[in-house]
Formats: sequence, C-alpha cells, structure tokens
Amino acid sequence: MTAFWNEADFDDHEMVHFVRDRDSGLTAIIAVHSTHLGPAAGGTRFWHYAEGGDAIRDALRLSRGMSYKNAMADLPAGGGKAVIVADAARTKTPAMLAAFAKAVDGLAGKYVTAQDVGMSEADMVALSQHTSHVAGLPGQGGDPGPYTARGVFLGIEAAARRALGADSLKDVRIAFQGLGSVGGGAARYCAQAGAQLVLADIDADKTKALAEELGGIAVSSDDVLASDVDIVSPNALGAILTEQSIETITAKAIAGGANNQLATGEEGTLLQQRGILYAPDYVINAGGIINVLRHIDGADDAVVNARIDTIPVRLEAIWQEAENSGQAPNQVADRMAKARIGR
Ligand code: NAD
Repeated sequence: MTAFWNEADFDDHEMVHFVRDRDSGLTAIIAVHSTHLGPAAGGTRFWHYAEGGDAIRDALRLSRGMSYKNAMADLPAGGGKAVIVADAARTKTPAMLAAFAKAVDGLAGKYVTAQDVGMSEADMVALSQHTSHVAGLPGQGGDPGPYTARGVFLGIEAAARRALGADSLKDVRIAFQGLGSVGGGAARYCAQAGAQLVLADIDADKTKALAEELGGIAVSSDDVLASDVDIVSPNALGAILTEQSIETITAKAIAGGANNQLATGEEGTLLQQRGILYAPDYVINAGGIINVLRHIDGADDAVVNARIDTIPVRLEAIWQEAENSGQAPNQVADRMAKARIGR
C-alpha cells in the first residue's frame, strides 16, 4: 500500500486526519493543506468511493484547491477539505454526523467546515450542535449561489473588456452551459447589461423558461460550447474543456463558474495557443466562498461585496501576467496562489 505522503496529490499538507468511529460506523478524512493565511476552510463531501485511496486523493486534491481559492479571494483563510466515506447505500445517520463534528471540534478551529456535495443544510446544522467550526449556517450569509453568480458576471465583463475590447456587455453574444443557481443568476445579470444570450441546460423546461424570460436562444447542451458567440460561460460540470471540445470553440473567451473546467492543466495551454482567453475557475467563482466564510473575520455585506468586486481586478492581473510571461492563465493563477500561501 502506498503511504499517502507518497501520493502524487500530496503537496506538503500540514495535516491529514483520519477519523474512524466504531459505534456510528463513521470513516472520514480531514485534510488541512495550509493554515498560512488562517484556519483551513473548505467543505465536507459525503461520497461513496470505489476504494479508500480515491477518498484520500480527493481530500488531498480538494484541500489544496481550497488553499488556492481562498488565497486568491483575499480571504483570511487557509485551505482544507473533509470527506466522509459513504457506503454503497450512502447511509448517513445522526450518530455519524455527531462523531464527525466531534472530530472537527477536536481540531480546535484549525479546520472550519462548510457544505459540499452530499451534505445538506440540515446536516450542517446537525454538525453545529457539536462544534462551532461550521461556516455558512442558515442566517449566516445564506445561499452562496447568488454571490457566485455576481462574481461570474463581473468576470464575464472583465473578459469582454480584455478579449473583445468591449467596455460593456451590450450586444456581446454569450453562451451559458448550465442554468442553475450560478449560470441562471449570471445570465440574468448579463441580460440586464444588454448581452445576447444562448442558453443550454440538460433540463429542457428550465432552458425554455429562461430563454423566454430573458429573450435568449435555447440550444442543446451538446452544442452550446461550439456556439457562434463571443464568450462561453460554463456553469454546469467539470472537465468540459478537453482537447476535442476546445477544437470546436470559436468564442474569444471562456468565463464561467463551474469547478475544474479544464480536464487537466494542459488544456489551459491549448486555449492560450488558440487565442482563447480563459478565466481560471477558482478565481472567477469565489463569490460563494467569500460569502460563506464571512464569519471568519466578521465581514458584513459591504465587505463581502467589496471582496467580490476584486474578482475582475484579480483576473486582469492574471491575464496581464500571462501575457508578460507567456504562461497560460491557469498556471499563472496557481503560481500567484502558491506565493500567497508562502510556497
Ligand atoms: P445547480 O445545481 O444550481 O445548477 C447546475 C445546473 O446545471 C442545473 O440546472 C443542471 O440541470 C445543469 N446541468 C447539469 N449537467 C449539465 C450538462 N451536461 N449540460 C448543461 N447543463 C447541465 O448548481 P450551481 O450551484 O449553479 O453550480 C454550478 C457549477 O458551479 C458547479 O460546477 C459548481 O460546482 C460550481 N460552483 C458553484 C458555486 C455556488 O455557489 N453554488 C460556487 C463555486 C462553484
């Protein structure tokens, strides 16, 4: 068996905490990547993994991602992530959540948790019965989606300035993939700013309704990336930017909120070679985490919004540095984030 510190995804994580509770059947991993800027903050994922190594790799990779994301969002927070290893039936009991919360509490604030895939708001409330180190509870900032959507909109405006020389979105053609909390919200802002929208979601009713509301064109999700538009905004799935899909893109810029849009880091270079401006996902989609982590330093709405307003400033700095250095924007973003966390 490979020791986790020999895993490719091990990146000098400060701590990897393995939790096992016999009575409740809980198995969990809490990975603290960096506390250089503050408590390691990141959600808890409840997921069934084919094998244990996958859970460790997920925790290692996702916690490093949170270090980068929080650092680039100017938050007083480091990066961490927890995974609760679910059985095939995805059994989740109150005793399990209590045991997990006690483990988080035992870290005395070194790790602050929040909601992620497989965990509900009610689960987070249950955790908060046993530990105060839970962010984004009801009444403390609320749904991150609208904040993420606003940041994505500001990032789209910045991409239009940079890639099209457009100082407004009036008549800029933008294709949205995914019309949920983030994509739907960002599309509404863009419509208000006068953009022409192409809209796609696997939920055809949702697509039709939003197209009618905003006066956009509904297309199929398979075709949306290759639409004849100026900007593509991915707001659904990860790993949609592959060698194959990039060949079909005729837009000048990609700016959307979906996590992990590049299938691997290499696609960032491919986009750059094709002259397509890319907004690194963890920079443009930070609005939600900025809101969720507001309690770490007691930020009010004005501070939260001012932080979200810096997303386009950060994107500009990344794009300028990419132009100066010849590196792709995703590589520049990683390098800037590493410098911020003292690596
Ligand atoms: P959501 O569940 O509200 O919406 C996702 C939408 O995408 C749904 O309408 C769904 O039908 C659609 N969809 C799924 N597969 C699709 C496909 N193949 N093609 C087209 N549409 C598809 O989720 P959300 O909160 O809007 O998040 C969207 C993305 O943004 C995710 O990648 C998420 O990880 C990321 N993100 C969200 C936030 C946030 O604050 N909610 C923050 C950061 C990143």
